Amino acid sequence: MAAFATIAPREDAPPPPRALIVEPLALQAHEVPPPLQYVREEQFQRGDTLAGFLSRLGIDETAIGRLARAPALRALRPGVAVRADVLADGTPKSLSFLTGRDTLVRIVPEGERFRALEEQAPLETRVLMKASVIRSSLFAATDAVGIPDGIAMQLADVFGGDIDFYRDLRKGDRFTVVYEIYDLGGRPVRAGRLLAAEFVSQGRHLRAVHFGSSYYAPDGRNLRKAFLRAPLEFSRVSSGFGMRRHPIHSGWRAHKGIDYAAPIGARVRAVGDGVVDYAGIKSGYGNVVILRHNGQYSTLYAHLSRIAVRRGARVAQNDTIGLVGQTGWATGPHLHYEFRIAGQARNPLAVALPSGLPVPAQSLAAFRAQAEPLVARLDLLANANVALLD
Ligand SMILES: [Zn+2]
Repeated sequence: MAAFATIAPREDAPPPPRALIVEPLALQAHEVPPPLQYVREEQFQRGDTLAGFLSRLGIDETAIGRLARAPALRALRPGVAVRADVLADGTPKSLSFLTGRDTLVRIVPEGERFRALEEQAPLETRVLMKASVIRSSLFAATDAVGIPDGIAMQLADVFGGDIDFYRDLRKGDRFTVVYEIYDLGGRPVRAGRLLAAEFVSQGRHLRAVHFGSSYYAPDGRNLRKAFLRAPLEFSRVSSGFGMRRHPIHSGWRAHKGIDYAAPIGARVRAVGDGVVDYAGIKSGYGNVVILRHNGQYSTLYAHLSRIAVRRGARVAQNDTIGLVGQTGWATGPHLHYEFRIAGQARNPLAVALPSGLPVPAQSLAAFRAQAEPLVARLDLLANANVALLD
Protein backbone atom coordinates (compact mmCIF):
# COMPACT_ATOMS: atom_id res chain seq x y z
CA MET A 1 0.00 0.00 0.00
CA ALA A 2 2.76 2.45 0.95
CA ALA A 3 4.52 1.87 -2.40
CA PHE A 4 1.48 2.97 -4.34
CA ALA A 5 1.06 6.17 -2.36
CA THR A 6 4.43 7.51 -3.58
CA ILE A 7 3.66 7.05 -7.27
CA ALA A 8 1.75 10.03 -8.56
CA PRO A 9 -0.33 9.07 -11.62
CA ARG A 10 0.41 11.27 -14.67
CA GLU A 11 -2.46 13.55 -15.66
CA ASP A 12 -2.47 12.44 -19.29
CA ALA A 13 -2.15 8.78 -18.61
CA PRO A 14 -5.18 6.56 -18.68
CA PRO A 15 -6.31 5.50 -15.26
CA PRO A 16 -4.22 2.56 -14.15
CA PRO A 17 -5.99 -0.78 -14.30
CA ARG A 18 -5.95 -0.97 -10.54
CA ALA A 19 -7.64 -4.24 -10.23
CA LEU A 20 -5.04 -5.92 -12.42
CA ILE A 21 -2.05 -4.42 -10.63
CA VAL A 22 -3.12 -4.48 -7.04
CA GLU A 23 -4.39 -8.00 -6.93
CA PRO A 24 -1.25 -9.78 -8.08
CA LEU A 25 0.85 -7.66 -5.69
CA ALA A 26 -1.42 -8.48 -2.84
CA LEU A 27 -1.15 -12.12 -3.76
CA GLN A 28 2.63 -11.98 -3.72
CA ALA A 29 2.73 -10.28 -0.38
CA HIS A 30 0.18 -12.35 1.47
CA GLU A 31 -0.91 -15.43 -0.38
CA VAL A 32 2.18 -17.29 -1.60
CA PRO A 33 1.64 -20.77 -0.25
CA PRO A 34 4.42 -22.01 2.04
CA PRO A 35 6.45 -24.94 0.70
CA LEU A 36 4.52 -28.15 1.12
CA GLN A 37 7.42 -30.43 1.75
CA TYR A 38 10.92 -30.08 3.14
CA VAL A 39 13.95 -32.25 2.62
CA ARG A 40 16.34 -32.35 5.52
CA GLU A 41 19.43 -34.35 6.14
CA GLU A 42 21.06 -34.87 9.50
CA GLN A 43 23.75 -37.15 10.82
CA PHE A 44 22.91 -39.38 13.74
CA GLN A 45 25.46 -38.38 16.39
CA ARG A 46 27.00 -40.23 19.27
CA GLY A 47 24.85 -39.36 22.28
CA ASP A 48 21.74 -38.64 20.21
CA THR A 49 18.45 -40.06 21.41
CA LEU A 50 16.25 -41.28 18.59
CA ALA A 51 13.46 -38.89 19.61
CA GLY A 52 15.82 -35.90 19.76
CA PHE A 53 17.30 -36.80 16.41
CA LEU A 54 13.88 -37.14 14.72
CA SER A 55 12.84 -33.81 16.17
CA ARG A 56 15.98 -32.25 14.62
CA LEU A 57 14.78 -33.57 11.28
CA GLY A 58 11.60 -31.49 11.71
CA ILE A 59 9.26 -34.39 12.45
CA ASP A 60 6.24 -33.72 14.69
CA GLU A 61 5.76 -35.29 18.12
CA THR A 62 3.01 -37.72 17.21
CA ALA A 63 4.99 -39.21 14.35
CA ILE A 64 8.13 -39.36 16.52
CA GLY A 65 6.25 -41.49 19.03
CA ARG A 66 5.33 -43.97 16.31
CA LEU A 67 8.67 -43.82 14.43
CA ALA A 68 10.75 -44.35 17.56
CA ARG A 69 9.46 -47.92 17.70
CA ALA A 70 10.60 -48.80 14.16
CA PRO A 71 13.33 -51.46 14.46
CA ALA A 72 15.17 -50.11 11.40
CA LEU A 73 15.59 -46.73 13.13
CA ARG A 74 16.49 -48.23 16.49
CA ALA A 75 19.48 -49.85 14.77
CA LEU A 76 20.88 -46.48 13.61
CA ARG A 77 24.61 -46.07 14.23
CA PRO A 78 26.44 -42.79 14.90
CA GLY A 79 27.70 -41.22 11.68
CA VAL A 80 24.83 -42.41 9.51
CA ALA A 81 23.17 -39.60 7.54
CA VAL A 82 19.38 -39.75 7.39
CA ARG A 83 17.40 -37.91 4.75
CA ALA A 84 13.86 -36.95 5.68
CA ASP A 85 11.08 -35.74 3.40
CA VAL A 86 8.72 -33.95 5.74
CA LEU A 87 5.47 -32.05 5.14
CA ALA A 88 5.21 -28.50 6.47
CA ASP A 89 3.17 -29.71 9.46
CA GLY A 90 5.89 -32.15 10.49
CA THR A 91 4.35 -35.27 8.96
CA PRO A 92 7.14 -37.50 7.58
CA LYS A 93 6.65 -38.76 4.00
CA SER A 94 9.81 -40.83 4.00
CA LEU A 95 13.09 -41.35 5.83
CA SER A 96 16.02 -42.91 4.06
CA PHE A 97 19.57 -43.92 4.89
CA LEU A 98 22.29 -46.32 3.84
CA THR A 99 22.96 -49.36 5.93
CA GLY A 100 25.66 -51.98 5.69
CA ARG A 101 27.58 -51.32 2.54
CA ASP A 102 25.07 -50.71 -0.19
CA THR A 103 21.56 -51.20 1.14
CA LEU A 104 19.20 -48.25 1.07
CA VAL A 105 16.52 -48.33 3.78
CA ARG A 106 13.38 -46.27 3.21
CA ILE A 107 10.80 -45.85 5.94
CA VAL A 108 7.42 -44.79 4.64
CA PRO A 109 4.02 -44.25 6.31
CA GLU A 110 1.45 -46.97 5.82
CA GLY A 111 -1.84 -46.05 7.42
CA GLU A 112 -1.11 -45.32 11.07
CA ARG A 113 2.16 -47.21 10.99
CA PHE A 114 5.49 -47.08 9.22
CA ARG A 115 7.03 -49.64 6.94
CA ALA A 116 10.74 -50.17 6.20
CA LEU A 117 11.70 -51.02 2.62
CA GLU A 118 15.14 -52.21 1.70
CA GLU A 119 16.67 -51.97 -1.73
CA GLN A 120 20.04 -52.15 -3.39
CA ALA A 121 21.35 -48.56 -3.30
CA PRO A 122 21.67 -47.19 -6.86
CA LEU A 123 25.32 -46.24 -6.42
CA GLU A 124 27.29 -44.65 -9.22
CA THR A 125 31.03 -45.06 -9.62
CA ARG A 126 33.34 -42.16 -10.37
CA VAL A 127 37.08 -42.29 -10.85
CA LEU A 128 39.07 -39.59 -9.07
CA MET A 129 42.73 -38.62 -9.33
CA LYS A 130 44.55 -36.78 -6.57
CA ALA A 131 48.12 -35.95 -5.71
CA SER A 132 49.74 -34.66 -2.55
CA VAL A 133 53.09 -34.01 -0.90
CA ILE A 134 54.15 -35.24 2.51
CA ARG A 135 54.90 -32.44 4.98
CA SER A 136 54.36 -34.17 8.33
CA SER A 137 52.60 -37.50 7.88
CA LEU A 138 50.87 -39.54 5.22
CA PHE A 139 47.45 -38.88 6.73
CA ALA A 140 48.10 -35.14 6.92
CA ALA A 141 48.95 -35.29 3.20
CA THR A 142 45.84 -37.28 2.29
CA ASP A 143 43.60 -35.12 4.50
CA ALA A 144 44.94 -31.97 2.84
CA VAL A 145 43.49 -32.98 -0.53
CA GLY A 146 40.47 -34.93 0.69
CA ILE A 147 41.66 -38.46 -0.02
CA PRO A 148 39.55 -40.87 2.08
CA ASP A 149 41.24 -42.89 4.85
CA GLY A 150 40.38 -46.15 3.10
CA ILE A 151 42.42 -45.08 0.07
CA ALA A 152 45.34 -43.94 2.26
CA MET A 153 45.35 -47.38 3.91
CA GLN A 154 45.23 -49.13 0.53
CA LEU A 155 48.13 -46.98 -0.64
CA ALA A 156 50.22 -48.00 2.40
CA ASP A 157 49.18 -51.60 1.84
CA VAL A 158 50.06 -51.68 -1.87
CA PHE A 159 53.55 -50.30 -1.29
CA GLY A 160 53.98 -52.05 2.08
CA GLY A 161 56.49 -54.48 0.55
CA ASP A 162 58.67 -51.64 -0.76
CA ILE A 163 58.26 -48.81 1.71
CA ASP A 164 58.38 -48.86 5.49
CA PHE A 165 55.71 -46.23 6.10
CA TYR A 166 57.08 -45.70 9.62
CA ARG A 167 60.69 -45.00 8.83
CA ASP A 168 61.07 -44.41 5.09
CA LEU A 169 58.77 -41.41 4.66
CA ARG A 170 60.41 -38.02 4.34
CA LYS A 171 59.19 -34.48 3.98
CA GLY A 172 58.83 -33.82 0.26
CA ASP A 173 57.92 -37.40 -0.68
CA ARG A 174 54.91 -37.30 -2.94
CA PHE A 175 52.23 -39.54 -4.31
CA THR A 176 49.41 -39.74 -6.79
CA VAL A 177 46.33 -41.93 -6.48
CA VAL A 178 43.64 -42.93 -8.98
CA TYR A 179 40.65 -44.39 -7.16
CA GLU A 180 36.94 -45.10 -7.25
CA ILE A 181 34.29 -43.20 -5.33
CA TYR A 182 30.72 -44.42 -5.01
CA ASP A 183 28.04 -41.74 -5.18
CA LEU A 184 24.41 -41.88 -4.19
CA GLY A 185 22.26 -39.13 -5.67
CA GLY A 186 25.36 -37.21 -6.74
CA ARG A 187 26.98 -37.29 -3.31
CA PRO A 188 29.96 -39.40 -2.29
CA VAL A 189 29.09 -42.32 -0.04
CA ARG A 190 32.32 -44.27 0.24
CA ALA A 191 35.61 -45.01 -1.46
CA GLY A 192 36.04 -48.00 -3.71
CA ARG A 193 39.25 -49.55 -5.00
CA LEU A 194 42.58 -47.90 -5.46
CA LEU A 195 43.09 -48.37 -9.22
CA ALA A 196 46.60 -47.02 -9.65
CA ALA A 197 49.17 -45.17 -7.58
CA GLU A 198 52.58 -43.63 -7.72
CA PHE A 199 54.88 -43.04 -4.78
CA VAL A 200 58.04 -40.99 -5.07
CA SER A 201 60.13 -41.45 -1.96
CA GLN A 202 63.71 -40.30 -1.60
CA GLY A 203 64.31 -40.51 -5.33
CA ARG A 204 62.61 -43.88 -5.77
CA HIS A 205 59.68 -43.91 -8.19
CA LEU A 206 57.21 -46.69 -7.46
CA ARG A 207 54.09 -47.33 -9.47
CA ALA A 208 51.23 -49.74 -8.97
CA VAL A 209 48.32 -50.77 -11.16
CA HIS A 210 45.39 -52.83 -9.92
CA PHE A 211 44.74 -55.96 -11.96
CA GLY A 212 42.70 -59.00 -10.99
CA SER A 213 43.06 -59.28 -7.23
CA SER A 214 46.59 -57.90 -6.99
CA TYR A 215 48.77 -54.88 -7.70
CA TYR A 216 51.57 -54.88 -10.23
CA ALA A 217 54.22 -52.51 -11.46
CA PRO A 218 53.44 -51.22 -14.98
CA ASP A 219 55.89 -53.82 -16.37
CA GLY A 220 53.92 -56.66 -14.78
CA ARG A 221 56.08 -57.35 -11.72
CA ASN A 222 54.08 -58.27 -8.62
CA LEU A 223 54.25 -55.68 -5.83
CA ARG A 224 53.25 -58.21 -3.22
CA LYS A 225 56.41 -59.26 -1.38
CA ALA A 226 57.06 -62.34 0.72
CA PHE A 227 57.74 -59.89 3.58
CA LEU A 228 56.20 -56.59 4.57
CA ARG A 229 58.74 -53.83 5.21
CA ALA A 230 57.20 -52.86 8.55
CA PRO A 231 55.87 -55.09 11.35
CA LEU A 232 53.44 -52.39 12.47
CA GLU A 233 50.13 -51.86 10.79
CA PHE A 234 49.82 -48.45 9.25
CA SER A 235 46.94 -46.65 10.93
CA ARG A 236 45.94 -43.13 11.84
CA VAL A 237 46.68 -43.75 15.52
CA SER A 238 50.06 -45.43 15.36
CA SER A 239 51.40 -43.59 12.31
CA GLY A 240 50.82 -40.19 13.89
CA PHE A 241 52.77 -41.39 16.90
CA GLY A 242 55.65 -42.62 14.77
CA MET A 243 55.88 -39.44 12.78
CA ARG A 244 55.68 -37.06 15.69
CA ARG A 245 58.20 -38.80 17.83
CA HIS A 246 60.91 -39.91 15.53
CA PRO A 247 61.74 -43.59 15.87
CA ILE A 248 64.22 -44.23 18.65
CA HIS A 249 67.60 -43.76 17.06
CA SER A 250 69.74 -46.78 17.50
CA GLY A 251 71.27 -48.12 14.33
CA TRP A 252 70.36 -51.73 13.69
CA ARG A 253 74.08 -52.57 13.74
CA ALA A 254 74.32 -51.57 17.39
CA HIS A 255 71.77 -54.09 18.59
CA LYS A 256 70.82 -56.05 15.48
CA GLY A 257 67.30 -54.74 15.28
CA ILE A 258 65.06 -51.81 14.45
CA ASP A 259 63.06 -49.98 17.10
CA TYR A 260 59.66 -48.57 16.27
CA ALA A 261 58.21 -45.99 18.62
CA ALA A 262 54.52 -46.87 18.92
CA PRO A 263 51.79 -46.58 21.53
CA ILE A 264 51.18 -49.49 23.88
CA GLY A 265 48.50 -51.71 22.39
CA ALA A 266 49.29 -50.98 18.72
CA ARG A 267 48.84 -54.11 16.60
CA VAL A 268 52.00 -56.02 15.68
CA ARG A 269 51.70 -58.12 12.54
CA ALA A 270 53.59 -61.02 11.01
CA VAL A 271 55.67 -59.59 8.16
CA GLY A 272 55.38 -62.88 6.26
CA ASP A 273 53.77 -66.34 6.30
CA GLY A 274 55.44 -68.63 8.81
CA VAL A 275 55.34 -70.77 11.94
CA VAL A 276 55.67 -69.53 15.52
CA ASP A 277 59.08 -70.71 16.72
CA TYR A 278 58.95 -69.05 20.12
CA ALA A 279 56.27 -67.18 22.08
CA GLY A 280 57.06 -66.21 25.67
CA ILE A 281 59.44 -64.31 27.92
CA LYS A 282 63.17 -63.94 27.18
CA SER A 283 65.03 -61.70 29.67
CA GLY A 284 65.92 -58.43 27.90
CA TYR A 285 63.38 -58.94 25.13
CA GLY A 286 60.46 -59.19 27.56
CA ASN A 287 57.48 -60.82 25.85
CA VAL A 288 58.80 -61.93 22.50
CA VAL A 289 57.57 -63.79 19.41
CA ILE A 290 59.93 -65.41 16.91
CA LEU A 291 58.60 -66.57 13.54
CA ARG A 292 60.28 -69.03 11.19
CA HIS A 293 59.55 -68.39 7.52
CA ASN A 294 60.26 -70.24 4.29
CA GLY A 295 63.86 -70.59 3.32
CA GLN A 296 66.39 -69.19 5.76
CA TYR A 297 64.32 -66.31 7.11
CA SER A 298 63.15 -65.63 10.63
CA THR A 299 61.74 -62.54 12.38
CA LEU A 300 61.59 -61.46 16.03
CA TYR A 301 59.20 -59.05 17.76
CA ALA A 302 60.06 -57.92 21.31
CA HIS A 303 58.83 -55.90 24.33
CA LEU A 304 55.21 -56.90 23.59
CA SER A 305 52.49 -56.07 26.11
CA ARG A 306 50.53 -59.08 24.88
CA ILE A 307 51.30 -62.17 22.84
CA ALA A 308 48.52 -63.35 20.53
CA VAL A 309 50.00 -66.61 19.18
CA ARG A 310 51.25 -69.97 20.49
CA ARG A 311 54.39 -71.84 19.70
CA GLY A 312 53.92 -74.09 16.65
CA ALA A 313 50.97 -72.11 15.22
CA ARG A 314 50.93 -71.16 11.54
CA VAL A 315 50.56 -67.47 10.79
CA ALA A 316 49.88 -65.66 7.53
CA GLN A 317 51.39 -62.36 6.47
CA ASN A 318 49.57 -59.49 8.24
CA ASP A 319 48.13 -61.70 11.02
CA THR A 320 48.22 -60.15 14.50
CA ILE A 321 50.91 -61.78 16.63
CA GLY A 322 50.82 -59.41 19.61
CA LEU A 323 50.53 -55.84 20.85
CA VAL A 324 53.20 -53.19 21.37
CA GLY A 325 54.41 -52.89 24.95
CA GLN A 326 57.32 -52.03 27.20
CA THR A 327 58.30 -55.41 28.71
CA GLY A 328 61.94 -56.43 29.24
CA TRP A 329 64.68 -53.85 28.87
CA ALA A 330 62.73 -51.02 27.33
CA THR A 331 62.86 -47.38 28.35
CA GLY A 332 59.57 -46.57 26.65
CA PRO A 333 56.81 -48.25 24.66
CA HIS A 334 58.24 -49.51 21.40
CA LEU A 335 58.58 -52.53 19.18
CA HIS A 336 62.02 -54.06 18.75
CA TYR A 337 62.09 -55.92 15.44
CA GLU A 338 64.76 -58.23 14.04
CA PHE A 339 65.04 -59.76 10.61
CA ARG A 340 67.41 -62.72 10.24
CA ILE A 341 68.70 -64.66 7.30
CA ALA A 342 70.27 -68.02 8.21
CA GLY A 343 70.41 -66.88 11.83
CA GLN A 344 72.27 -63.65 11.01
CA ALA A 345 70.59 -60.34 11.84
CA ARG A 346 70.19 -58.23 8.70
CA ASN A 347 68.85 -54.76 8.08
CA PRO A 348 65.35 -55.51 6.71
CA LEU A 349 65.20 -52.12 5.05
CA ALA A 350 68.29 -52.89 3.02
CA VAL A 351 67.82 -56.50 1.88
CA ALA A 352 66.14 -57.39 -1.40
CA LEU A 353 63.02 -59.39 -0.61
CA PRO A 354 61.48 -62.13 -2.75
CA SER A 355 58.38 -61.05 -4.71
CA GLY A 356 55.10 -62.71 -5.65
CA LEU A 357 54.47 -64.03 -9.15
CA PRO A 358 54.31 -61.53 -12.05
CA VAL A 359 51.27 -61.14 -14.32
CA PRO A 360 50.84 -64.55 -16.02
CA ALA A 361 51.96 -64.61 -19.66
CA GLN A 362 48.45 -65.36 -20.95
CA SER A 363 47.06 -62.28 -19.15
CA LEU A 364 49.74 -59.82 -20.24
CA ALA A 365 47.71 -58.37 -23.13
CA ALA A 366 44.70 -57.78 -20.87
CA PHE A 367 46.97 -56.31 -18.20
CA ARG A 368 48.57 -53.87 -20.64
CA ALA A 369 45.16 -52.77 -21.94
CA GLN A 370 44.07 -51.98 -18.38
CA ALA A 371 47.37 -50.50 -17.23
CA GLU A 372 47.96 -48.15 -20.17
CA PRO A 373 45.20 -45.58 -19.50
CA LEU A 374 45.94 -45.66 -15.76
CA VAL A 375 49.64 -45.07 -16.30
CA ALA A 376 48.73 -42.21 -18.67
CA ARG A 377 46.76 -40.63 -15.82
CA LEU A 378 49.67 -41.04 -13.43
CA ASP A 379 51.96 -39.39 -16.00
CA LEU A 380 49.54 -36.51 -16.35
CA LEU A 381 49.39 -35.85 -12.61
CA ALA A 382 53.10 -36.47 -12.09
CA ASN A 383 53.87 -33.72 -14.61
CA ALA A 384 51.30 -31.36 -13.10
CA ASN A 385 52.79 -32.11 -9.69
CA VAL A 386 56.31 -31.26 -10.76
CA ALA A 387 55.03 -28.01 -12.23
CA LEU A 388 53.37 -27.18 -8.90
CA LEU A 389 56.43 -28.01 -6.87
CA ASP A 390 58.98 -26.14 -8.95
ZN1 LIG B 1 65.74 -52.50 19.91
